[in-house]
Amino acid sequence: MNLDLHCHSYYSDGKHSPEFLLQLARENQISHLAITDHDCCLAFELHRDGINDIKLIAGVEISCSWEGREIHIVGLCIDVTNPELCHLLSSQLQHRRLRMQEMDSHLQARGTGGLWQYLEDLPCIAYTRSHAADFLVLQNICKTRQKAFKSYLGRKGYIYAEPSWCTMDAAVQAIVAAGGIAVLAHPGRYPFTARKLETLIDAFVVSGGEALETSYSNIQPEVKKLLTELAISKKLYCSVGSDFHDASASWTTLGRFPQLDATAKKNAIWSHPKWHF
Ligand code: AMP
Ligand code: MN
Ligand code: MN
Ligand code: MN
Repeated sequence: MNLDLHCHSYYSDGKHSPEFLLQLARENQISHLAITDHDCCLAFELHRDGINDIKLIAGVEISCSWEGREIHIVGLCIDVTNPELCHLLSSQLQHRRLRMQEMDSHLQARGTGGLWQYLEDLPCIAYTRSHAADFLVLQNICKTRQKAFKSYLGRKGYIYAEPSWCTMDAAVQAIVAAGGIAVLAHPGRYPFTARKLETLIDAFVVSGGEALETSYSNIQPEVKKLLTELAISKKLYCSVGSDFHDASASWTTLGRFPQLDATAKKNAIWSHPKWHF
């Protein structure tokens, strides 16, 4: 079994269609794929049968807040029709639209219109700052996406608007209500000390979280080791995912991340009783 349990389609800030992702999964010998778009499950709703030999697992990645910080929770094996989850996701999508309207106003005040129209012409339903970065590059306002994040879209950027995400507790509870497994996404990417990370994991467990991503693209070996130890000591399952967005950028491809250690494999998320597809 070769799995990738974290990636994005063009329904959020991925560049490709679900069909393209399924085809790429096949080329990369992935048997089980979860498309975990930001705050939306449309890829699964439209392609729940996967293609031939590739199984599609119902997934989502929810942006949320914990102690004033932004963190991401992946939900896997969720019932995408669950009313509590649907309600939370539609509220998140609405906040995303309002946030982008605010950024559009800031950009108009600086003399550039068209961001909102640009977003509306895309296939995406979850608007993100990543789309705004593409727009700023397209308009020759910024040379690169990185520069767009630094000067315009980051906390101190010209057109920054505060997000209003749900709490981590609400995100985990909605995933659990939808029969799914809540996974703390890319835990080593948050700007936290080891101590703060452990506090986050403890709070995540109290909320009902059950797994950590212990391997993802570009993870450092020492971070992978620490996360595996944390998962084992907190009795959490181990998940994996590339967080793939774009084949044309310098992103590593679907399915590309270090293998789980033997101890992590014994506690892999696909051995969870709720695991199904
Ligand atoms: P949002 O959820 O609207 O805040 O948008 C965040 C998305 O933008 C993330 O999911 C990333 O894909 C992307 N992103 C965030 N920070 C950066 C960055 N510094 N450079 C490139 N992409 C970024
Ligand atoms: Mn993204
Ligand atoms: Mn994320
Ligand atoms: Mn992601």
